[in-house]
Amino acid sequence: MRPTLARLAEELCLSGYAVNSPRGAECVVAGDASAVAAFESRLRELLRNGIPVGAVVEAIESQSFDPQGHAYREQGGDQLGEFTIRSSVIPEADGASLSAKVPPDAVVCDHCLRELRDPRDRRHHYAFLSCIACGPRYSIVDAMPYERGRTTMREFPLCPRCAEEFDSTTNRRFHAETTACPACGPQLWLSRDGSRADAIYGHDAVRQAATVIRNEQVLALKGLGGYQLLVAARSDRAVGELRRRKRRPAKPLAVMVRTAADAAALATVSDVELRWLHAPSGPIVICDALANHSLSRGVSCGLHTVGLMLPTTPLHVLLLDELDMPLVCTSCNLDGEPILFEGNGSRSALAALADNCIEHNRPIRRPVDDSVLRVMAGRPVGIRIGRGLAPASIAAPTSVPIIAVGAHQKVAVAIANGAQTVLGPHIGDMGSTATRRRFVEQQRELADLYGTPEALLVADEHPDYFTTAWTRSRVEDSTKPVSAMMVQHHHAHVVSGMVEHGWLDRQVLGIAFDGVGWGRDGTLWGGELLLATAAEFDRVGSLRPFRQLGGEQVVREPWRVALALAHEVIGDEAMRLGLAPASDCELLLRASGLSPWTTSVGRLFDGVAALALGIHRAEFEGQPAMLLESSTARCDLQGAAKSDRAAYRFDIGIRADGMLELDWRPAVQQVIADVAIDASPASIGARFHDALALAVFKAAAHWPTLPVVLSGGVFQNRCLVERLASAAADDERPWGLPGIIPPNDGGLAAGQIAIAAARAVQ
Ligand SMILES: [Zn+2]
Ligand SMILES: [Zn+2]
Repeated sequence: MRPTLARLAEELCLSGYAVNSPRGAECVVAGDASAVAAFESRLRELLRNGIPVGAVVEAIESQSFDPQGHAYREQGGDQLGEFTIRSSVIPEADGASLSAKVPPDAVVCDHCLRELRDPRDRRHHYAFLSCIACGPRYSIVDAMPYERGRTTMREFPLCPRCAEEFDSTTNRRFHAETTACPACGPQLWLSRDGSRADAIYGHDAVRQAATVIRNEQVLALKGLGGYQLLVAARSDRAVGELRRRKRRPAKPLAVMVRTAADAAALATVSDVELRWLHAPSGPIVICDALANHSLSRGVSCGLHTVGLMLPTTPLHVLLLDELDMPLVCTSCNLDGEPILFEGNGSRSALAALADNCIEHNRPIRRPVDDSVLRVMAGRPVGIRIGRGLAPASIAAPTSVPIIAVGAHQKVAVAIANGAQTVLGPHIGDMGSTATRRRFVEQQRELADLYGTPEALLVADEHPDYFTTAWTRSRVEDSTKPVSAMMVQHHHAHVVSGMVEHGWLDRQVLGIAFDGVGWGRDGTLWGGELLLATAAEFDRVGSLRPFRQLGGEQVVREPWRVALALAHEVIGDEAMRLGLAPASDCELLLRASGLSPWTTSVGRLFDGVAALALGIHRAEFEGQPAMLLESSTARCDLQGAAKSDRAAYRFDIGIRADGMLELDWRPAVQQVIADVAIDASPASIGARFHDALALAVFKAAAHWPTLPVVLSGGVFQNRCLVERLASAAADDERPWGLPGIIPPNDGGLAAGQIAIAAARAVQ
């Protein structure tokens, strides 16, 4: 912002200064009245036209001073000389919580790309070039306001040539805080474990890295927000070895391609998907893979999709220019652990995971994973919010400082400091000690960055979640008065959808479908209809409950769900469906009274997938449901007209307690019958998706005037969301489909914070 202000002031011969403050960019100009007026009108016009790129304009405030008056002298007006950019106001000195936006990391821009590839340019092949429009931001910032001296780039004083560019208003690197060149900036090397021992430097390191990948070995690379692992995506051997070392047998892996044309050779890429591939945030975009793609089958492991991304940093560009082949690009960690980002101390981990490591000496201050999006019904849906998108501003304004900590999986922290509310980057699942440690660090670091030392803490009602226990301990251990609020899991899901659509002032019908969350009646909820406001909710309907045979084990053993569902429908015949040895089935059913009740739609999907696809064991949570979606997508892609097939049926009834119930029994009966006649899994999947979408639509018709909000992990399913979107197109009231705030647990903190904010004003 400041360079734009300076250029404009210079053109109009105005004196004054620009400065970054905790409130945003501030500027004082003095001069001829008509020139000052022109400054303001031209500035407004520039901002309307999206200049400078990436600027977020929430409000423009201006104030004029009489040059004879006291206030003018108090502002130092009579001492203004030539227009300058002043060093920033330190927030502590100002005493305000941060209201300026923390700039997100941006992928390398086209201008810098041209320099990178131009042999005559002094930054030719220089992996750390950046400018006013691109480069690292959030991942390297120590404290706000954003300025080189408060980023990890402060370790690299500018050389005379870079300093000249930095000071020249006509240069595109004028006040580009992260600018650098080979003479003064960070350096690159390659070695076995990333240490400097026997290292190869400069572009030779990139060439050697390319050789590592060509040899089907695993390369670690220090990316923008942490280390990544890269292998040749067409090589079964390399992909298999990567999976073995990461201990990640089946979860899909993302693929980085050199150009959009390369992406189109692997997947169908819609215009919206293309736009996101090219966005400055540079996310992974989950697209439908082409049937004849050239990737190793080990990349997607049976799913019909592939996560694609373009090169994000100059280093990735250089590597792909050398190789010109698709690369698997995944975070460097053991599955379930947080992304590695500090070289020191991680050398042995790097050496264990990779054959060689490309390292550099620009420190990462804040680890951040790549973002993942999926386009559904033409809208981007957040699957994981990280590099380039987080911290994401969310429209949940409150004057109360609040920190919300999410639930247990896909944890992300949300922070409200009174001036703004943001959803922080993805941290991970709280199953491992390392991720828990990362969670504690990250909530503290975000609180420091945004200036919220003491805040109301918000967590999930589930008593056993690490984040909930941590919240309680903070309240008990604190010497200062800290208070906490627990909120119900599915209410938080629904309210996160209300935040997404700006509906916090309304009552909505929330449809929350997910794996499981803590229910208030002692059962595991996961298929809920809630009449909700931001502050409160009333549970008015749910999926018909079933026994989760063997508790948590069902996540990995979906046949248990299939057995429970089938037993309700066809009795002991269920034991002869071949789901598991009859003795195992009998044992399990006999002890079913010990298993918890659940209304989880996620589990229902797992059970139907086990019946339709014969899946006995899942490699990760949600895999059976994803495979069922893939079958369905294949059916949809074949253009099988919906009129050619009849949807299965859910009955919708009202229970004795007045709650509406989505009864899955007719649908499961039809699935079993179709499996018995060897119907294709694709058609079974499609008819099941049709049925569920229809059931949701019919259930929603019981509350015909309320806006509908869809949230919960089940709505990462594009086949389901697009069916609902087309049904909803004819409905008079609005349907809030999932958006950038993840519908899965990654978006929960956004809902939690809005609930706490709403209750705080009551
Ligand atoms: Zn650039
Ligand atoms: Zn330089």
